[in-house]
Amino acid sequence: MRIVVLSGGIGGAKFLVGVRAQARALGAEVTAVVNVGDDVRMHGLQICPDLDSVMYTLGGAHDPGRGWGRVGESWVVKEELAAYGAEPSWFGLGDKDTATHLVRTQMLAAGYPLSAVTAALCARWQPGITMLPATDDRLETHVVVDVEGERKAIHFQEWWVRYRGEVPTHRFVFVGAEAAKPAPGVVEAIAAADVVLVAPSNPVVSIAPILAVADVRDAVATGPAPVIGVSPIIGDSPIRGMADKCLATVDVAVTAAGVGALYGPRSAGGILDGWLVDSSDAATEVPGVPTRAVPLWMSSEEATAQMVKDALSLAGAASPGS
Ligand code: GDP
Ligand code: CA
Repeated sequence: MRIVVLSGGIGGAKFLVGVRAQARALGAEVTAVVNVGDDVRMHGLQICPDLDSVMYTLGGAHDPGRGWGRVGESWVVKEELAAYGAEPSWFGLGDKDTATHLVRTQMLAAGYPLSAVTAALCARWQPGITMLPATDDRLETHVVVDVEGERKAIHFQEWWVRYRGEVPTHRFVFVGAEAAKPAPGVVEAIAAADVVLVAPSNPVVSIAPILAVADVRDAVATGPAPVIGVSPIIGDSPIRGMADKCLATVDVAVTAAGVGALYGPRSAGGILDGWLVDSSDAATEVPGVPTRAVPLWMSSEEATAQMVKDALSLAGAASPGS
């Protein structure tokens, strides 16, 4: 069995821990197609927050408290940069993490595509799944905001980390998406999959930038495998992160029904054949998309593996694309 997962960073990584556990039980292969919209160059280093969250989490090296970055991190480089007054000072650059960014940036400068760099980094972390960036091309999420009386587009990281999303926000733009091609292996993995799972990641800034690559979206929307989404919203709460602020910006209700309808049924130009919602949202209805309600709290590997089992069972009951 082959499972493909569309994933953002922290939420996607947690979900993938459960996918990997369930895949081991089934003897299945897992490919994660990971968002690159958060990627940014800082202090001359190419930083890929979502790829690193997935890699560190599956490699058992993430900081579970902070959610991102390495466990046992130190911050000497950040302090030294601050002592020089080097901007941006709002970005957390850990020492251990910096080594990852140095290796990545050197390999990119030597001409390797991001997918090859990711594979090289994964040789150390052994995530137990195949990790692919959605694209090797530049694709960055920018946010149109009003700051200091001026309307401008800032990088998603600046909006998220510096402003905590607390500035008047108008829209998200996926810079480069129109020209971006899927990374090698992405379309092939989706076409060969027995099931495609949409992780309970941020729909607006983690999943949407993946689907903004037209050939990735087409592969998902028209492929032979059933596509099952897992709701990132329980009740009216995004659990952690700022999915509520992102959804408000695109005028989507912060509910499982709102996000399910945003993705929409494959039969009507969307991507879903099934939508898994939390038990407390059992009344959720998404026109054209069969839903099932099960516990969706990723409180442990076992609980998350059970969610994945439920998603696979919903896939088994789905009639793909109809
Ligand atoms: P990011 O790229 O690091 O922001 O992470 P993702 O986009 O992959 O995932 C963030 C989203 O995961 C949050 O907006 C939440 O909606 C969702 N999330 C976090 N924890 C849970 C959980 O326990 N259950 C479910 N269903 N969703 C969760
Ligand atoms: Ca992210």
